[in-house]
Amino acid sequence: MLSSARHSAHEADVVIVGAGLAGLSAAHRLTAAGVRVAVLETAPRPGGRMATDRIDGFRLDRTAQLLNTAFPELLRTPGLDTLALRPFTPGVLVHAEGRTQRTGEPRGGKRAFTTARALATAARAPRTGGLDQARLTGALTRLAALPAHRVLSRPDRPTAATLMGRGLPARTVEGFLRPLLQSLLCDPELTTSSRCADLVLRGYARGRLCLPAGGADTVPALLAGALPPGTVRTGVRVHAACTTSVSTVEHGEIRCRSVVVATGARAAAELIPGLRLPDFHPVTVLHHTAPEAPLREASLILAAGRRGPVAHTTVASEVDPSRAPEGRPLITSTVLGAAAGLPTAELDRAARAQLARIYGTSTAGWELLSAHHDPDAVPAMPAPHDVRRPVRLLSGLYVCGDHRDTSTVEGALFSGRRAALAVLRDLGIRAPETAETLRAA
Ligand SMILES: Cc1cc2nc3c(=O)[nH]c(=O)nc-3n(C[C@H](O)[C@H](O)[C@H](O)COP(=O)(O)OP(=O)(O)OC[C@H]3O[C@@H](n4cnc5c(N)ncnc54)[C@H](O)[C@@H]3O)c2cc1C
Repeated sequence: MLSSARHSAHEADVVIVGAGLAGLSAAHRLTAAGVRVAVLETAPRPGGRMATDRIDGFRLDRTAQLLNTAFPELLRTPGLDTLALRPFTPGVLVHAEGRTQRTGEPRGGKRAFTTARALATAARAPRTGGLDQARLTGALTRLAALPAHRVLSRPDRPTAATLMGRGLPARTVEGFLRPLLQSLLCDPELTTSSRCADLVLRGYARGRLCLPAGGADTVPALLAGALPPGTVRTGVRVHAACTTSVSTVEHGEIRCRSVVVATGARAAAELIPGLRLPDFHPVTVLHHTAPEAPLREASLILAAGRRGPVAHTTVASEVDPSRAPEGRPLITSTVLGAAAGLPTAELDRAARAQLARIYGTSTAGWELLSAHHDPDAVPAMPAPHDVRRPVRLLSGLYVCGDHRDTSTVEGALFSGRRAALAVLRDLGIRAPETAETLRAA
């Protein structure tokens, strides 16, 4: 705990710039150690990219977030103990060339193949062959058992170049592995580091894909709500940062003992000259409603073979009924790569045609509720990618965010924890956790 004499000199011991997941995660670790923290957020509410719009009784995520029950930081970040996760049906449905099949159930168990009436009308391939399925289950089981440090010690190459060297037949690679990784990494070309892809695939093999109940913004709302009152100040834009103060547009200079820059990568590069600016994967999220649900199960459907702009789609109201008003299904679809930049009307037309094929039903009566485009959605992680980029720039100046780790919810939360630990070390405050516990995570 810092002395009150020190307190009086500054408005806060530590100023955190940005109330996304990384900044909120750092704030929790610092306040738990007795440090006075101010989190300054330019937007009207905390959460950053984890935003949800409320329109006509629908809760429409700007991110169409795919979380995983095996994300360790989601489970251990203070404030998230009451987070409810709504799991997808195990495995995924893969749609390719007019056919849909379930595959990729991590533990392989025998499950009846169930699809909705609508899907039953589409030509369906037989379930992935027993031998293929057994090989896939074996590969996922082995990956699930690997400790993270073993994954991170593997050679690092572009993921696309490694797909065929995994002991799986080409039909499993094209019919499962490629579309799954494209969707989980938001990277249609799979230029992402194979180590990062393996970490994400390992998460898939260990847990269940899920959506946060009530929308993506539930996660930052819980984090912000569990901080001491007044810690997060919204509507405050920082335009300069150094080791002992930040300058804000609204309140002038705020002095402190340390500054943590927890903005996205682009804003961080503006505040900290010399910080590397990554490339980004653009994403557009489309939300439609329909006269009736085109599928009555909580499945994630991957679109393999690039026959349209949509990479994956789900009837989100089947996964999490709280996202839609009674009797109005919510279909959420994600568009990656160059197609994400198409004008909305053109994108909607192309997406509807593809969704009609995927769900085996007419989409003419569907209504587009929203289309959210983010050109900087996900920082690219080309090989070789360091998943533990330094968070301490100088004594007193730190940086965290998904661009310091993996470009995921998990990476953002973990980078915030690492930054908080570095701050505490420099302030000479004993941290409840050590560098060793971080390395083991
Ligand atoms: C469309 C989309 C799909 C995604 N899909 C997935 C997925 O399926 N699974 C997954 O794990 N992850 C996914 N992600 C990534 C995940 O959302 C991010 O990795 C994570 O939310 C990043 O958190 P952050 O705290 O690092 O950054 P941000 O959420 O960007 O937070 C930074 C905050 O800093 C604030 N800020 C910026 N500049 C200033 C300033 N000058 N002064 C004050 N405040 C400032 C911003 O307003 C923002 O609130 C997706 C992201 C998008 C956009």
